[in-house]
Amino acid sequence: MPELFRPSKQLYQEHFEEEIVLKKSIWNALVLSLIPIFTAACNNDEKSASDGTGTYSAGATAEISQNTAVPAIVQPPAGGDELKPNKADARKADTGSDEKPAVDPADVRAANLVAQMSLDEKLQFIRSDHKTMGDTGGGGAGHIPGLPRLNIPELTIADSSTGSGALRLASTTFPATLAVAASWDEKLSYDYGVEIAKQLRAQGYGMGLGGGANMVRDPRSGRMFEYLGEDPVLAGKLLAWRTKGTQSQQVIATIKHMVGNEQEAYRTTGSSAIDERTLREIYMLPFEIAVREAEPGNVMCSYNKLTLDKYPADIFACQHYHTLTEILKNEWGFKGQVQTDWKAIHSIAGAINAGVDEEEDYEAATFFLADKVKPLLKDGTILISRLDDMVRRKLRTMIKVGVMDNPPVDNKVADFKPQTDFESGAAVAQRVAEESIVLLKNREPQAPLSAAPNAHLLPLNAVKLRKIAVIGAHANDAVLSGGGSGSTRHPVWGNYDTCGDVKLHQNGCGWWAVPWALVRTSIVRAIKDAAPNAEVSYGGNSDRAQPFRPYTAQEIDAAVELAKTSDVAIVVVAQPSGEDVTSLSLSLSVVRDGKGNPSNQDELVTKVAAVNKNTIVIIESGNPILMPWIDNVSAVLETWYPGENGGPAIANILFGKTNPSGKLPITFPKKETDTPTGGGAWSENPVYSEKLNVGYRWYDAKSVAPLFEFGFGLSYTSFAYSDLRMDTDGTDGTKTVSFSVENTGTVSGKEVPQVYVQFPSAAGEPPKRLVGWEKVDLKPGEKKKVAVKIPPRMQSIWDTDKNTWKLVPPSKIMVGASSRQIKLEL
Ligand code: BGC
Repeated sequence: MPELFRPSKQLYQEHFEEEIVLKKSIWNALVLSLIPIFTAACNNDEKSASDGTGTYSAGATAEISQNTAVPAIVQPPAGGDELKPNKADARKADTGSDEKPAVDPADVRAANLVAQMSLDEKLQFIRSDHKTMGDTGGGGAGHIPGLPRLNIPELTIADSSTGSGALRLASTTFPATLAVAASWDEKLSYDYGVEIAKQLRAQGYGMGLGGGANMVRDPRSGRMFEYLGEDPVLAGKLLAWRTKGTQSQQVIATIKHMVGNEQEAYRTTGSSAIDERTLREIYMLPFEIAVREAEPGNVMCSYNKLTLDKYPADIFACQHYHTLTEILKNEWGFKGQVQTDWKAIHSIAGAINAGVDEEEDYEAATFFLADKVKPLLKDGTILISRLDDMVRRKLRTMIKVGVMDNPPVDNKVADFKPQTDFESGAAVAQRVAEESIVLLKNREPQAPLSAAPNAHLLPLNAVKLRKIAVIGAHANDAVLSGGGSGSTRHPVWGNYDTCGDVKLHQNGCGWWAVPWALVRTSIVRAIKDAAPNAEVSYGGNSDRAQPFRPYTAQEIDAAVELAKTSDVAIVVVAQPSGEDVTSLSLSLSVVRDGKGNPSNQDELVTKVAAVNKNTIVIIESGNPILMPWIDNVSAVLETWYPGENGGPAIANILFGKTNPSGKLPITFPKKETDTPTGGGAWSENPVYSEKLNVGYRWYDAKSVAPLFEFGFGLSYTSFAYSDLRMDTDGTDGTKTVSFSVENTGTVSGKEVPQVYVQFPSAAGEPPKRLVGWEKVDLKPGEKKKVAVKIPPRMQSIWDTDKNTWKLVPPSKIMVGASSRQIKLEL
């Protein structure tokens, strides 16, 4: 359809100019003062949702569109920063002019397609069908039929947080998304996005729902494994790079769940109360960075309600005009689609008029059906121009990402066999695991085991070891992954076919609840391969039918006996979590829901460590865990959910083939009551009263010593920091912080120097805020200069009164090896 690319003058006038006019006169014209009333009315539109006869807003909306002047509600961020507004906004911000934005052929083409559609055809594109998705080759999350008359292909949607969520097609299980955050490596995040997207496309999917970026507010949250940690800049940058990777493969990327969806307890009913400054500086920021820097096709709004400053309480996030339209679309210039979480809306007009473009339906809870929407269009509750905008956004996204002209293969054909490159997937999975494993402790060993140049226990010396005990967590055949929609439903090597006594979902056992992924090379096998002369024995629970049950007394005794006679004892502990998990404790000794988590893992570690001074603990978790035994063990590695090649990755780290370089993207507290939310029962309506003091900011502000701080991670080598200086760019105030990092040890290694700023106390900021970092690869003796740019926006705070960002030059610049190991400051 090459002619559709041509922006004919007529088309431009009819459709694109019309869009601009409509945007100005209607959507931008919903003035701030009227929004609260408007949104409240929308939110109460239950009647229209159920019988299609909604009455609340026809008059109000029509009147606003006709009579209200265009207010200046777009508040651009401080200029010149890295978080650039989209072109149209930038022009307006720079010139103050309303001059026409540059024409994007995708907009024109999408508008042209919409103009050729009947009402019923348009309505087909505002809803994805969960049921018909089940009939496609791989199964998945949603399906939108194509429109052959206009050469619009169908679109199939799958989850993809840690690998493709195809139900019936084998997919690589990648390490947890949280592991990507622990790598602090933007390029790696890009590669992770690329590799997962390659599998999605090969399986026939055009959209992946993998971009989770909710913040770690309470570290017991079930889905932390599929998010990117507790710092919004770290999360946002990695999300942006992952998004770019995904879309480079012509797969539409979704970022989710916007916003305030930080807990699984009451996740569909509760209301998160967040003040505007905290909303902007913490919870919206990862989404803002990804939207501005990577232009994701889709943003998924979340299940929860929101109670925000100046707005009525308890408005569903998928019906909140402030976040979806005022901020996302108007202020950030987002041109893609807002899609709902599955079953996340409660009102047709409430959602559509707030900014939702597509409903992802689920079972009977479908709202955006033609016969329900048409009456609302007829009586003016929803404007036809808004419907056109919704469809145009969908088509534009398909065009931009490449799904329109180069759709993925049809997976509904008989005997569909995707051309999935599992070897490439396994290689990337292993690389991510190795870059993300965090060495938390490495104590001097008992002679003569030391092989490391720095005389710590790790790395192990394969030549000198005679007997190695590997104990626990099914290290003989599987690795743990997260449960729920963030998992791979059909790992290449399979799952345990029962969830035993832990149910990760109220529906009981099924793919949702089976997080043990079988692997080709287990941890035990990989250690055998790395130390061929040693005898490697496994002790612990090999019971696949009850994988989470506590260890029996006999199993613990046997493990202790094995440890006694071994040179080293490697104890693997596991903490399952997942979507809908509301009962997670950070303790490995607390029994969840009256069932296992192996509830005596602390006892296992303690007893093994009592008989073997060279005890190494390997943690598989998507959350921090408490370590009552930390002083009694020699080494600790946090491996997250390490993915299907976790075995070889762990062995490479243990034996020094790879030098660990991961740094914690979350704080590990000493006890649950130390955390910002203080542990305890989940509130149905959480008040984010700690405000900006999320994660390390809390521990700094309250002078609470963590077990391991944000940004922490050891190496087999050592690094020296020097030569800090700061230069300011006169034109826009960007600061460049430069310094040198030198590898002062005897093995190659990677360091992640982190740049934090402190603001003058009047700014009301926490003591420290991460503004940049770099991952530097250094040979022994090598010294490199690092330069980290701090654009004005990173030096700004949200000014709620003025509804804009305010530049507050920092009072101190700190460069550290973690948030608490500050090496240089100015
Ligand atoms: C989750 C989303 C997911 C969707 C589709 C929902 O329960 O919250 O993250 O994308 O299901 O599987």
